[in-house]
Amino acid sequence: MTADYDAVVIGAGISGMYQLHRLRGLGLRARVFEAGQGVGGTWYWNRYPGARFDSESWTYGYSFSDEILREWEWSEHFAAQPETLRYCNFVADKLDLRRDIEFGCRIESALYDDARGGWEIASTDGRRARARFLITAIGPLSAPTMPSIPGVETFRGEAYHTGTWPHEPVSFAGKRVAVIGTGATAVQAITEIAKTVGHLTVFQRTPNWCAPLHNSPIDPATQARIKATYPEIFARCRESFGCFIHDADPRKALEVSAEEREAFFEKLYREPGFGIWMGNFRDVLVNEDANATITEFMRRKIRARVNDPALAEKLTPTNHGFGTRRVPLESGYYEVYNQPNVRLVDLRETPIERITPAGVKTSAAEHAVDMIIYATGFDAVTGAFDRIDIRGREGRALREKWAKGPRTYLGLQAAGFPNLFTLVGPHNAATFCNIPRCIEQNVDWVTALLAHMRDRGYTRVEPTLEAEREWLAHVHDTGRRMLFTRVDSWMMGINRNVAGKDKRTFIVYAGGAPRYREKCDEAAAGGYAGFVFG
Ligand SMILES: Cc1cc2nc3c(=O)[nH]c(=O)nc-3n(C[C@H](O)[C@H](O)[C@H](O)COP(=O)(O)OP(=O)(O)OC[C@H]3O[C@@H](n4cnc5c(N)ncnc54)[C@H](O)[C@@H]3O)c2cc1C
Repeated sequence: MTADYDAVVIGAGISGMYQLHRLRGLGLRARVFEAGQGVGGTWYWNRYPGARFDSESWTYGYSFSDEILREWEWSEHFAAQPETLRYCNFVADKLDLRRDIEFGCRIESALYDDARGGWEIASTDGRRARARFLITAIGPLSAPTMPSIPGVETFRGEAYHTGTWPHEPVSFAGKRVAVIGTGATAVQAITEIAKTVGHLTVFQRTPNWCAPLHNSPIDPATQARIKATYPEIFARCRESFGCFIHDADPRKALEVSAEEREAFFEKLYREPGFGIWMGNFRDVLVNEDANATITEFMRRKIRARVNDPALAEKLTPTNHGFGTRRVPLESGYYEVYNQPNVRLVDLRETPIERITPAGVKTSAAEHAVDMIIYATGFDAVTGAFDRIDIRGREGRALREKWAKGPRTYLGLQAAGFPNLFTLVGPHNAATFCNIPRCIEQNVDWVTALLAHMRDRGYTRVEPTLEAEREWLAHVHDTGRRMLFTRVDSWMMGINRNVAGKDKRTFIVYAGGAPRYREKCDEAAAGGYAGFVFG
């Protein structure tokens, strides 16, 4: 039997939950399909030790409900995953969301039926639904990737991917543990695991520039201040490039004296959160000479914190400057390597050849371990789309349309795919953002468009090819000046563990959230210029 809805949402993370709430507000019959057994998305799946925010907790939560803001209290400035998952469940209870969500339901295909003017959605377990509107809320970092190393299935010990971590506690005590990967997730996990592990071997291919998180509990006076100033906090986020509480310093790095620069870097290094990345001199992410100053500062910090100079060198990136890849925030990461029971294996010197029944075999040795943790991340932004067979008009596959890089208008719709909306999709500011701030913008904008259609009796919307071409040009124009576009990383669509993702492609929008919002608002104010209604 095929159930009929006005709108189907795929995914019940921060995006899908809020979108459901707003669809109900429009009076639409909406259904959410979620692969997991609960709400929360990222915070449902990523239960690995050490998982926590890089965003200040009090800037991350939803801003749309005064009641939620009043009632919810974050315990730490950077909450750990269990608390954020509790928050998501608190919101789901408050808004009574679960009655319209089907859990344990992975959507495998979504086909547009031109004759009926709607989408036919099917799940892997045979559930079917039909809806006029399809809204993907499937997450920018929700398609975990395993490394393409032979022999993974032959390992006889415990093996976990950080993005699908078990719900039961995992003990490291007395065990020999291998962690493969040194990205943001690995940095959090390694630091936590090192506290109790028997012996830890970290397999590193590309070191990253990690900066201190400086987490702390929120004391009652601060809690009261946060609650009293939420409007100001969100207003400040709204105006900053990435919707963080941190925004670039108006000065340029080389326009101040060396002493002043050093003092500013020191100050940022001692402060909590992404200030050192998002609140640095305004040219450090766009000018190579400016970038070299902060990169050199960070290099000295690693040398000062790691006792063994040779090890410090291995932990120091050589192929990219600070901030040109996602900056992991850490709480004692470098000191882990001063522990006698922790070893770093540099895969640039001795690559992994295979996983064996006993452990990890590199070109130099076999490392016997009891547990392997794959901290190998995600097929970012487009990965979750690639895992669904989405077909638009005339059966055209979205995968095919995006094979050489995504093409969208405003990162929210694609020509040839009527009535499909892609929250936090490629070329959308939400991909480079304190994400819930951009999620709320995405959802509010889509909701307003649906209301516009309802009021005028439209049943179909799709962008023009011209609008799509212009958006692509804008994405490239605004992104090009950023240094990160000259570096291989997931932000540039590179994932060596996924076939075909070895060429740099713009997948994010790096023009900044305020500019993006302006573009979206302009389109709406102009009667949704660039869209065709039917
Ligand atoms: C470890 C980690 C830490 C992070 N920390 C921060 C941070 O500090 N600040 C920040 O701004 N962002 C952070 N992020 C990014 C984070 O993903 C976003 O903040 C936000 O949670 C995204 O919400 P979402 O609802 O768009 O996507 P998700 O939370 O990823 O939810 C997507 C949901 O869609 C479901 N889904 C996907 N495909 C299908 C399918 N085919 N069928 C059915 N269901 C499907 C998934 O199961 C998932 O539950 C972090 C990400 C990770 C992985």
